Amino acid sequence: MTLEQQDKQYVLQTYARDYTNFVKGIGSTLYDENGKDYIDFASGIGVNSVGHGNDILTSALCEQAKNIIHISNLQVIEPQAKLAQKIVELSGYDMGIFFANSGAEANEGAIKIARKYGETKFDNKRYKVITLEHSFHGRTITTVKATGQESFHTPHFSPYPDGFSYEKSIEDVYKAIDDETIAVLIELVQGEGGVQPFEKEEIQKLAAHLKSEGILLIVDEVQTGVYRTGEFLASNLYEIEPDIITLAKGLGGGVPIGAVMTKHKEILVAGDHGSTFGGNYLSSAAGLAVLEVLYPLYESGNIDETLIYFSQKLEDIVSKYNHLFDKEVGLGLMRGLRAKSAEIQGSIIKNAMQEGLIILKAGRNTVRFLPSITISKNEIDEGFKRFEKVISTL
Ligand SMILES: *Cc1c(COP(=O)(O)O)cnc(C)c1O
Repeated sequence: MTLEQQDKQYVLQTYARDYTNFVKGIGSTLYDENGKDYIDFASGIGVNSVGHGNDILTSALCEQAKNIIHISNLQVIEPQAKLAQKIVELSGYDMGIFFANSGAEANEGAIKIARKYGETKFDNKRYKVITLEHSFHGRTITTVKATGQESFHTPHFSPYPDGFSYEKSIEDVYKAIDDETIAVLIELVQGEGGVQPFEKEEIQKLAAHLKSEGILLIVDEVQTGVYRTGEFLASNLYEIEPDIITLAKGLGGGVPIGAVMTKHKEILVAGDHGSTFGGNYLSSAAGLAVLEVLYPLYESGNIDETLIYFSQKLEDIVSKYNHLFDKEVGLGLMRGLRAKSAEIQGSIIKNAMQEGLIILKAGRNTVRFLPSITISKNEIDEGFKRFEKVISTL
């Protein structure tokens, strides 16, 4: 039985999978079972923030695994407390953190905090959450309903929870607010929706308005968080102070972890929320190691250099191949090329694997780049060399 047959027989077929069998990764280079190398411009959809085989991360994991992997949240967990402190300090926000295991779960926590806040702080119960079209917030029944893409709300899984509505633009959010609205949930750069950043002024204006109305601003930083946009949080880059922020993807460097942080520390009390695995010894140790790797790179200006270098490469591509791409989009190391058509996008993604390059799609016609934050200039050069090879045949 081949690996593909085994997968097809025993694993539920919920993904349109590629069957390259990767067996080893070093930095931003992956190797398949035949020894062929691939430049990794996807980092496991923004997860492998410190690349593959990072020494600090792997030693921290091995050491932690030898001591304790897991004890329940009924006991205090030293690395979890340390990680919470570190995240709060790096963010600069006076917040408390709850740890979960994924982005969707972090967003579930955010919605629970908002709903309870809406019950306790107002005379009438406020429960409605406004999100944006083209957003993505997860795959649980609630977060799929929070996702502003009709194609996700298939009748297969109905009924969905009430209280979610979607607006076309930030401007439309103002009009949608009513006396049952408790929160606005947004990504600052829509990732899955097409790597589309919002204007800083527009977000600052919205944040100020929500604050004056007593409505919560929830920022989904599952993809933008942990230096992806060049700052620790995209909220730092936009210079706003959200009420609630969610994190996941890049935080554990590949070990599953999610986090919801809020300045309303008093809302959730014992018994309101929980998770068996959330923030256990292993995932918290991973988070600490990731931040230990990335913070010095941020401090030294290395992350800035990398994202400027990467951005320059994309600009060169757009000017050289303006028959294929309209423009480059995104922020930091969360980038995209807006292809002239969905067909162009599709052929690029398909042919890239052949040339030894891993890239992603986003939205209808965006080719997406989510390299690890630690990617080297050599790997960027090699990746774009391969990318040009792919597109020169189109
Ligand atoms: C990936 C993603 C999620 C979902 O995270 P999971 O870990 O897959 O549950 C939620 N929000 C955003 C913005 C994401 O990019």
